[in-house]
Amino acid sequence: PGRSRTYDRVLLKISGEALMGDQSYGLNPPTVARIAREVQSVHELGVEICMVIGGGNIFRGLQGSAQGMERTTADYMGMLATVMNALAMQSALEALDIYTRVISAIPMDQICEPYIRRRAVRHLEKKRVCIFAAGTGNPYFTTDTAATLRANEMRCQAIFKGTKVDGVYDKDPTKFEDAKRYDRVTYDEVLQKNLGVMDASAIALARDNRLPIVVFSLDEPGGFRGILAGQGTYTTVH
Ligand code: UDP
Repeated sequence: PGRSRTYDRVLLKISGEALMGDQSYGLNPPTVARIAREVQSVHELGVEICMVIGGGNIFRGLQGSAQGMERTTADYMGMLATVMNALAMQSALEALDIYTRVISAIPMDQICEPYIRRRAVRHLEKKRVCIFAAGTGNPYFTTDTAATLRANEMRCQAIFKGTKVDGVYDKDPTKFEDAKRYDRVTYDEVLQKNLGVMDASAIALARDNRLPIVVFSLDEPGGFRGILAGQGTYTTVH
């Protein structure tokens, strides 16, 4: 705690649900614009920014398969949902005059760029915000794993996971008043205690590559920039 460090390149992971605002489904443009301003305030510092956005506000593969859909088909629908969210975020960032690229794990040339690692690195060096879409491109994965994968590939110094709560708790803070927040917690503790930061494959991939995960609240205005400067409350998974 209190340890501050300067970041040159980071990855911001948000769930699709973060874009819903008060709605129960889909995209809420003012909410997307608000998150874009959070990104802008960090971009202004010269930090190179990668983003991964989930798709749960539109479609989740597991839901589809629970309703009888073939799992891989449902997962591809989920991946397509992440592309829609990425395009919405691109539009909101461009409205703030920030250059962005949507880079998809599944090529769809008319809509966005295909993922080519060296090209993505070059975009970052030119301070373009890279929004990685379509997850890993594979069914049976999540966008948390995609975020960890891309953060490793892009050599980000950390993943910043923006959530509704300001860190990792020993139990659900929305249900238990005596829930305690960790300042720092190890990957193994997260896995053993099933702390629900990210799914197990994402945590394991971060652990094996010593990639810190910083969990913070996206609901605090200026939160992202503050957290990067080591201010406010958050949990570091290390
Ligand atoms: N998905 C997938 N492979 C990936 C990433 C995502 O199949 O590499 C699918 C999966 O069906 C998932 C959906 O896309 O349910 C949306 O992603 P996720 O659930 O991670 O979104 P979030 O919960 O972060 O909004």
